[in-house]
Formats: sequence, structure tokens, C-alpha cells
Amino acid sequence: MKIIAIGLNYAEHNKELNNPVPDEPVFFMKPDTALIKGNKPFFYPDFSKNLHYETEIVLKINRVGKCIPENFAYRYFKEIGIGIDFTARDIQSRCKEKGLPWEAAKAFDGSAPVSHFVSKTDFKDLHDLNFHLTINGVTVQQGNTSNMIFSYDRIIAHVSKYVTIRMGDLIFTGTPAGVGPVKIGDHLQAYLESKLMLDFYVR
Ligand code: MG
Repeated sequence: MKIIAIGLNYAEHNKELNNPVPDEPVFFMKPDTALIKGNKPFFYPDFSKNLHYETEIVLKINRVGKCIPENFAYRYFKEIGIGIDFTARDIQSRCKEKGLPWEAAKAFDGSAPVSHFVSKTDFKDLHDLNFHLTINGVTVQQGNTSNMIFSYDRIIAHVSKYVTIRMGDLIFTGTPAGVGPVKIGDHLQAYLESKLMLDFYVR
């Protein structure tokens, strides 16, 4: 499986990092070694001094597809979850300055803790979903999917132009404003609507 992640998909987040609003979805990838499941701890990597959480809605792809038309894209995922796109912000800033790729900042081992998945039919409107992250019981980031710049369907159509998506692949759909640092010992809990989905410690 592979993890595809969308960047710059919430206007307020782009402002906080001084990024422009893109005219098409921006994506990057994380390898399967980035995945953490089952609320296992995240181990703070020694190569970063400024590791940030980015809380994101995650789509689980349930069939193979290539060049998927936007109006059929909804057929390619049945379940959604929540994940953290851990980012070594210090390394990412250096990469951006030099115009280099982001992999060292985004694709490292354990950089993608992901919750269990729930049926998308559990929700009245996938385009109006609240989600939030608490650290040590304090809400640090909240978002609503109505603020996404590019919809799930647009993302799937765009990515599948370049990359065949397969059953089990995950798509991180971008983070809202409010990203920030974590430290060793922090307790992270991510909620989809009011449901606790992800619950783990930074070690
Ligand atoms: Mg992200």
C-alpha cells in the first residue's frame, strides 16, 4: 500500500505557513513504513527539533483505478478515518528554501499515525465534517471539511491521473489551520465529529 497526502488544501492553513493557494491539488507520498496503526506510540525522531502535528481526514481506497473521472471518484472509497501527517517543520523549511523535495520532512518512519476506519455512510454530509485534535486534553486544532479547497472527488481524479490507486491505499486530505509542535510525553487524541478515533502518546 501507499500513502498519498495532499498539501495546502485549507486556505487558513496556507496563510499561517505563508503558502499560496494552489490552482490544482498538490500531493506528495509517504511509504508504508510511515504508517502507525492501533494507537501505538509515535517516537520523536532525533533529526528534528520542531516536529509538528497536522490533523487530517483520511480516505481508504477500496478498488483499483487510474484516470478516474471526478464524477465517479466517490466509488473509490467507502471508509474514512483520521490521521496525523507528522512533519519535521525545520527540515521542511530548509527544503522549501532550497526548492528541494520534502521527503525527509514528511515521509520518515512513523510519520503517519492513522485511526481505524468507519463507513462514510455513518455521516450525513462528508463535506461538512468537524474534526479536532487535543494534546494533553486541550484542543489545539480543529477543522471542518467544508473548508477544503479541493474536494475528495477532485483529489482522487487528480492523483489518479498520475498514480494508479489500489485497494488499501490511503489519501490524507490536507490539514486546517492550527498546526503546531509536539514534545515527548504528549498525549494526542483526534476526534471525528464527537467520536474519539486516534489516541496515542509521543515517546
Ligand atoms: Mg499535511
